[in-house]
Amino acid sequence: MATFTPTKEENLRSVKSKNLKVALVGNPNCGKTTLFNQLTGSNQHVGNWPGVTVEKKEGFLEFKNITINILDLPGIYSLSPYSSEEIITRTCLLEDDPDLIINIVDATVLERNLYLTTQLLELQKPMIVAFNMTDIVEKKGDVIDYSKFRRELNVPIIPISANKGNGIKELLYLTIGYADKKGKPIVSKIYEDKIETVISKIENELKLGFSFNGVKRKINLRWLAIKLFENDELILRKVNLSRSQKEKIRLYKSIIPIPDNMDSQMIIADQRYKYIYKLCKNAVKRKHPLEHITLTDKIDRIVTNKFLAVPIFVLIMILTFYITFGPIGSFFRMQFEFFIKDILGGNISNLLTNLGAAEWTKSLIIGGIIEGVGSVISFLPQVMILFTLLSILEDSGYMARAAFITDKLLRKVGLSGRAFVPLLMGFGCTVPAVLGTRILEKEEDKKLTILMIPFMSCSAKMPVYAMFIAALFKEHQVLVISSIYLLGILMAILTAAIFKKPVLKGNTASFLMELPEYRFPSFKNLCIHVGERVKDFVVKAGTILLAATIVIWFLQSFNLNLQMVPDRKDSILASFGMTIAPMFSLCGFGDWRATVSLLSGLIAKESVVSTMAVLYGTGGLVGTSQVIMDQFSIISAYAFMVFVLLYTPCVAALSTIYKELKSFKWTAIAVAYQLTLAWTVSAIVYQVGIFVYNVI
Ligand code: GDP
Ligand code: MG
Repeated sequence: MATFTPTKEENLRSVKSKNLKVALVGNPNCGKTTLFNQLTGSNQHVGNWPGVTVEKKEGFLEFKNITINILDLPGIYSLSPYSSEEIITRTCLLEDDPDLIINIVDATVLERNLYLTTQLLELQKPMIVAFNMTDIVEKKGDVIDYSKFRRELNVPIIPISANKGNGIKELLYLTIGYADKKGKPIVSKIYEDKIETVISKIENELKLGFSFNGVKRKINLRWLAIKLFENDELILRKVNLSRSQKEKIRLYKSIIPIPDNMDSQMIIADQRYKYIYKLCKNAVKRKHPLEHITLTDKIDRIVTNKFLAVPIFVLIMILTFYITFGPIGSFFRMQFEFFIKDILGGNISNLLTNLGAAEWTKSLIIGGIIEGVGSVISFLPQVMILFTLLSILEDSGYMARAAFITDKLLRKVGLSGRAFVPLLMGFGCTVPAVLGTRILEKEEDKKLTILMIPFMSCSAKMPVYAMFIAALFKEHQVLVISSIYLLGILMAILTAAIFKKPVLKGNTASFLMELPEYRFPSFKNLCIHVGERVKDFVVKAGTILLAATIVIWFLQSFNLNLQMVPDRKDSILASFGMTIAPMFSLCGFGDWRATVSLLSGLIAKESVVSTMAVLYGTGGLVGTSQVIMDQFSIISAYAFMVFVLLYTPCVAALSTIYKELKSFKWTAIAVAYQLTLAWTVSAIVYQVGIFVYNVI
């Protein structure tokens, strides 16, 4: 196998396969998605924290008349079944049977990354190892002796740099040639003799026959033997052995003494680490020994410092809000709003008049669509600013630190630090955040996190706050917006406290994560990330919100006899709204228009803004904010924002929650809980606010 020269074209002439299935496997952040994008040309979101890739992604690539089907599998640290990612990846490798595994390792931290490699090798499937990030290795002046690694690990190894595109072509040649030959790695000796003996005895026992998941599968016996030695629960459950086989295996295992504070899995892990450590010591010459203090270390000493970490985190968040909602964001929003409503709206209005359009057409287009959809669209600059900033924080490597910092806080409420990732995603959109809970190892953690996510104020709610802030809180924007977001976080923590006992049993799993090096955010990632958001936003405005706005416009313009009404109070919508509005009088917004807006927010949260714009709008081009200023006091506006923050998420989010919880009962509990909490907190805010106001 060592004689296979990847770059030679003639190697491919004899290739018979026309279709190959290749799986990318590696630790989180080793560059799988970057390589996947390089190979398939697709724009997957490249995340800088573990767990962005929860579902496996598939892409295709044509190379030299061969179709390669590439799977981007979730990043994992090992093949033990402790997290959903590990289970997905392992199941895919065992049961989907790809033609080739490309194991990607981050060559800057080989000692950590090769742990997974040793486990993958034991699967005895065709595999090649790509040493990624070699550009950084070179820049650091480190030297890797690839031939030593090849000899020891008995597997083809190829240096690449996924984001620079180096070595990609060679990797493809190697992939095709090697997958076609069905080359398999030769097992290297990793464990000490005593353990090897036990493993081979178990292996012999397995040769007598077994079934896996009820069927006979071609699974490597040595690998299975090691799993049985490790007492791997999931495998134990799937393997059917006879009574005597089980008894014998138990007997063999008892030969190896296991210290009190260890278990058989730890013994295996320990030996793997020792093996890798020795190998790396021999084959990697580091210009600066690992202890060398890098710039990343220096920054981290401050940023993750025991006392400074949280204040810095809070400060960064406040700064983010300040830029988004403060003078800078407001300026861009106002320019954009002026453009849409005055210039665009004005011209369209003139055009309609000149064309002699009917009154209702003008009302629909100007008072409905431009007012409604336009007022949502006018927040686009602020959405862009917010996501640009978050993307910079993510791409630079800071978000991974934020996960690290919040780990401790999350543990206090009984959650794993890993829950940070889906919770953080909740600030973007509840749907992917809820899907993101799949990275959590325990069902209980998952359930609790799903209950918490809707309180992390999603980006669709932002235009609602921005609208009120622009109208009523001109002076304390940052304070108001930060307090809303903070309240959401506090309510999420409260939720954890309330549901912890009935939902959570058992201990929380520890959070193992590698902090990536800080680096300058890439412009390309930024564009992809922000571009995706802008696209979502605009598409949503042009479809769901447009449709909702037209429906709202219709319902507020006509009465039940389908006659256009001069006064909105006589419309279908008003008579309906007025029946439920009194429920909110304790919260300070018992006005039918506010109530109807909240209801339309169930379709999409931005719809609260467009509905308010249509209902409060004068039907002309006078801004909504003036009317809102007249209708709301500071206190009722704040109570309204609190309600928007806490009440039931949109239908798309709800259906995702239902799908992930797989329980109608829990979904119903979640909805009832959100509505009760939103109403209660909002009423408290309003009543206390009014009380304090009257006293002073
Ligand atoms: P995944 O978690 O394995 O999918 O890793 P990603 O593809 O998301 O990559 C993690 C980070 O490493 C991203 O910010 C990439 O831009 C970066 N990265 C990936 N490959 C390379 C490389 O070869 N060199 C350098 N310098 N950075 C890389
Ligand atoms: Mg990825």
